[in-house]
Amino acid sequence: MVPEPLIDHHGRRIDYLRLSVTDRCDLRCRYCRPAGDASYAERSDWLSFAEIRRVVSLFAAMGVGRVRLTGGEPLLRAGIVDLVADLAAMPGVSDLSLSTNATQLARYAARLKAAGLNRVNVSLDSLRRECVSELCGRDSLDATLAGLMAAKAAGLAPIKLNMVALRGVNDGEIESMAAFCFEHGFILRLIEAMPMGEAGRAAAYLPLDTVRARLARRFKLQPCAAELGGGPARYWQTADGRGQVGFITPLSLHFCATCNRVRLTVDGTLYLCLGQEHKLELRPLLRGGGDEALCSAIRRAVARKPWGHDFAAAPSRVLRFMSHTGG
Ligand code: SAM
Repeated sequence: MVPEPLIDHHGRRIDYLRLSVTDRCDLRCRYCRPAGDASYAERSDWLSFAEIRRVVSLFAAMGVGRVRLTGGEPLLRAGIVDLVADLAAMPGVSDLSLSTNATQLARYAARLKAAGLNRVNVSLDSLRRECVSELCGRDSLDATLAGLMAAKAAGLAPIKLNMVALRGVNDGEIESMAAFCFEHGFILRLIEAMPMGEAGRAAAYLPLDTVRARLARRFKLQPCAAELGGGPARYWQTADGRGQVGFITPLSLHFCATCNRVRLTVDGTLYLCLGQEHKLELRPLLRGGGDEALCSAIRRAVARKPWGHDFAAAPSRVLRFMSHTGG
């Protein structure tokens, strides 16, 4: 019998799970985690790999075929390659991906590819050493670039490069980041800073509409006819189709109507919306309940997925920061 897909009260089909495997990170990006924050999940509360495998298999059975591993920094979780191998081989998981700052990717890329990972998203906000140091708390530029090149050499594809666009911080180098991506065959994705937690609210938000106009003029970009990815980015491309830029605009042009995802933290909290506090504590159910109870709890939770965030109208609503939820 084919199980019912997960559909919320607004008729949106949920087919995408973002799974945080750790809330630790080796960078301290200013817009992500508040300075000095050390509020990590207890080690004993982390979902084990067996619990992660179980929960992913239940989601997959309910039609959630797309899974992204994230964090914190997912490559800091010991045994990550084994987890990737298990999830990549899992029936019902059709698209497994990973978001990383790539500082550890040079030593992991080939093993991740061999384990069954196809694609990777790398976060990099600047190609200027001083800017990276200032924004991320240390100079991680060389490590990230080495990780990116290792991913390319390993055949991970596509490689998407995520850049949070910040007014007065990196807005002057978006063109050079686009040129860098076009040269190496990476897909650039520009992201508007979201007011998540005090760190996100302090970020120098830059709406992307003028940036898009600027890039369209400079690189003669046209909107992509075909949808790329299944996520919220709206893509534009060069005339030969070889250079692509995605614009992720949660504030200036939100995409809640087509939201298809939920997020699971490292300690087993299922968040139904990035910008609201609606959640389900799955860990107690995973540790004390059967599969049927888990599935029906997930179904009930998904049904009450909120319509969308209130980032523009109520920017102080979300207290948790991105690294806690799993970006
Ligand atoms: N460490 C991994 C990485 O760097 O991709 C995964 C976790 S990180 C939280 C995921 C993404 O969230 C990164 O691309 C980061 O730039 C983005 N992010 C963090 N805080 C954000 C915010 N306030 N607004 C928009 N994007 C944010």
